[in-house]
Amino acid sequence: MREHTDGVAEYVARGEAMAAAEAERRAIMRTKKFDTIAVHGIYDAQAALANQGSIIEPGFMSSAQHFENSDHMEAALAYLMPAWVYSRIANPTVLYLEETLSLLEGYGFDGDVSTVATASGMAAVHMATNPFLQNPTAQTNIVVSARCYGGTFMLFSQRYGAERGIDVRWVCDPLDLDEWADKIDGDTRFVYGETPSNPSLSVMDIEAVAGIAHEAGLPLIIDSTVATPALLRPLNRGADIVVHSTTKSMTSSGLAIGGAVIARHGITTEIGPDEMRDNFAMYVKLLPFRDHGPGLSPFNALMTISDLRTLRHRMDSMSSSTMQVAQFLEGHDHVDRVAYPGIPSMAGHDIAARTMWLVDGADDYGSEVNRFGHLISFEVKGGVEAARNVFDGFQMIWRATDLGRIKSVATIPAISTHQQQGNAGRELASVPPNLIRLNVGGEHPNDIIADLEQALAVLEGSSLILPIRGSF
Ligand SMILES: *Cc1c(COP(=O)(O)O)cnc(C)c1O
Repeated sequence: MREHTDGVAEYVARGEAMAAAEAERRAIMRTKKFDTIAVHGIYDAQAALANQGSIIEPGFMSSAQHFENSDHMEAALAYLMPAWVYSRIANPTVLYLEETLSLLEGYGFDGDVSTVATASGMAAVHMATNPFLQNPTAQTNIVVSARCYGGTFMLFSQRYGAERGIDVRWVCDPLDLDEWADKIDGDTRFVYGETPSNPSLSVMDIEAVAGIAHEAGLPLIIDSTVATPALLRPLNRGADIVVHSTTKSMTSSGLAIGGAVIARHGITTEIGPDEMRDNFAMYVKLLPFRDHGPGLSPFNALMTISDLRTLRHRMDSMSSSTMQVAQFLEGHDHVDRVAYPGIPSMAGHDIAARTMWLVDGADDYGSEVNRFGHLISFEVKGGVEAARNVFDGFQMIWRATDLGRIKSVATIPAISTHQQQGNAGRELASVPPNLIRLNVGGEHPNDIIADLEQALAVLEGSSLILPIRGSF
């Protein structure tokens, strides 16, 4: 190691005091309830007094940090003290978000958790997986659930598989534990699942798959975008790393694209240096993330911080509306199949009922309550044409490739989010062409159901009144 001057040593000591104060703030917040953490994060009165007294986290739009002198600069850039340096690497506003996400996703987890925020959910999926693919051999493979987001499917199949020669081993039925176990061998680098999945809403047994992965010395990475930490916290159930598209329910206003990689300290892997094992999120932030440049904009971090405060309340009410929508659709003559983890006819419902609980639900309801999220899919009877007619008939529900919104939004995945992967890829991922994916928003459930009812009425032979297209 290089020698540093006495001046630098002084900054290192100051840095240690700063880190200790940060750790103390974190420890205090870890004793609070989920809603309290979501509202405050680690931004306390002391932090406010250092920021002109602002009670809301300030948006630091500056690209770079000024240093007191060369010693300060040297200590900061050698990563010897807490500093943010340059907004591609770190930024104070982004840090407020990262700290909040670590606390929320680590709620109830007995161990340390760190987060790196990214420019999108896809950047998070990339940053969470790419570090495990260093120095690949001809045998290097990954074991991943085929029931995943279209962008994730393309990253794995095209960027990793076709371009880099990684053997992508798809698990077609994530409920089948033998399929996971059989596909893992000595050249597997990581195990990856998404639960509930977009758009098929498939669930998986995180504990069981984590057990299988860990036995083979591998990390389990879970995309938990659809559940959010308000309903499911995979780290508590054995996962090593959680990825999120914070674009979705976390930023339900729809005002920012973003993502996050959230990891427990001490992940299971034999790949990479000790630092990567000890604190994966910090390792990613300081090295690969710095070099790839997928950092989150501080403006977008602010939008997400703002929406996150009400996450639990929104997930509660929108999930309960979605349950009503599910019951309406299940009873409808023109609907073939409804996919929603909350309904008993859904494969894996028992696992969802065992694991998806509204966090701190007993505070409101007197006892714990199941909540299953606000994403639902249904197949329209009569094939593609019928599905498109229903979709075109929505008068209030927006037609867009989006989810997590406070506004109800629908898409046909086969012609949108899961279009690029082709017929074979969609079959593998279980995305039929007559499937409509619906994000149930914060509107009154009666109005959402009424819009679905009038759109489905297009399929009634007797219906003479056609909805006016695009009237909303
Ligand atoms: C949207 C989504 C992503 C990708 O997130 P972006 O923010 O759009 O990049 C990843 N996983 C899931 C489950 C998603 O729904």
